[in-house]
Amino acid sequence: MAVMKFIPTALKNLFSKPVTTGYPFEPAVFPERARGHISIEIDSCIGWGMCVKACPLGALTVDKLKGTWEINRFDCVVCGYCVEKCPKKCLSVQTGYQTPGADKQKALYTKSPEVLKAEEEKRKEIVRKAAEAKKAKENGEK
Ligand code: SF4
Ligand code: SF4
Repeated sequence: MAVMKFIPTALKNLFSKPVTTGYPFEPAVFPERARGHISIEIDSCIGWGMCVKACPLGALTVDKLKGTWEINRFDCVVCGYCVEKCPKKCLSVQTGYQTPGADKQKALYTKSPEVLKAEEEKRKEIVRKAAEAKKAKENGEK
């Protein structure tokens, strides 16, 4: 008689949709608030390292001159502190896992050559203007 108790459940499951997903034959669907990985829009990064200072695990490295941003995926716990601190809003928490790569541990992002070139020209312009201002000041003192 105990078997009879399962019949309604068995019939219900027989005519309802599966609760499992079709992954990997269908794209994986992540919950809206899932903490998958940290992503960066590297060309918007100004390289001041607020994210580096905010990270409690030391998972980030930034090189302003080289235009690089690196994350150690094994150290990152996706707490989101770096995302909160980024003044340019170029960091975000993505729901899905990162794309598989040859290096599982570290992911290095580098700015595009156009952005690096524009930044280099900007730096040269600042140095040139500073030199001109210094020269003008020296000439004025003579
Ligand atoms: S999400 Fe948290 S642990 Fe990961 S890099 Fe940002 S601050 Fe560090
Ligand atoms: S806080 Fe944002 S803008 Fe600053 S270095 Fe980090 S990613 Fe770049």
